[in-house]
Amino acid sequence: MNERELRAALTVTARQSVSQGLNTGASGNVSVRLGEGFLITPSGLANDMLEPDQMVLMDMEGQSSGSLKPSSEWRIHRDIYRARPEVQSVVHAHSPHAVSLSCLRRGIPSFHYMVAAAGGKDIRCAAYATFGTQALSDAVLTALQGRHACLMANHGQVAVGASLDAALSLAVEVEELCAQYWRAKLIGEPVLLNDMEMEEVMERFKHYGQRRDGQQDA
Ligand SMILES: [Zn+2]
Repeated sequence: MNERELRAALTVTARQSVSQGLNTGASGNVSVRLGEGFLITPSGLANDMLEPDQMVLMDMEGQSSGSLKPSSEWRIHRDIYRARPEVQSVVHAHSPHAVSLSCLRRGIPSFHYMVAAAGGKDIRCAAYATFGTQALSDAVLTALQGRHACLMANHGQVAVGASLDAALSLAVEVEELCAQYWRAKLIGEPVLLNDMEMEEVMERFKHYGQRRDGQQDA
């Protein structure tokens, strides 16, 4: 896709992050890789009111062009694109159940096989750091090692994907898993799947489904 098409696609994803219950108002942000840089949603504007020409173009040094400031979390997006060549899109959200679990500084263990949709046996929670800082980006990159998603302590979640749709649908899945885990914890201690059971699921996910973007919809 060219820049014009990516601006339009990013606008749709930013709006969907609101309609699918991940974000409210200006919280959260979305980006998509473009050539040697990336396009990211602007700072402080409501995600469901954005227009394609308001998306901010950034290079990998963190320089932006245009009059609008990029999202304050641009470092997380930039650092993920630098470290993970397979990633084409990043979704950061303050989705309610992910935020709740993140405030307990608790990741999601293997309570359900769909946890493997994030690439491993669990979904980690990144250490706490102030929003917008390099320290927060470093913590997120560490928690994302070998994974497509993580929680962020006292903050929210990040999901990545090989396309805008893949990153968004994984963020929706993570939010749902957080809600399911929370509900299970309300009535007892969930029985966790063991390493062998999770490895079997991850092996199946490699071959399951119709999608060609590398992520699964089991
Ligand atoms: Zn945030």
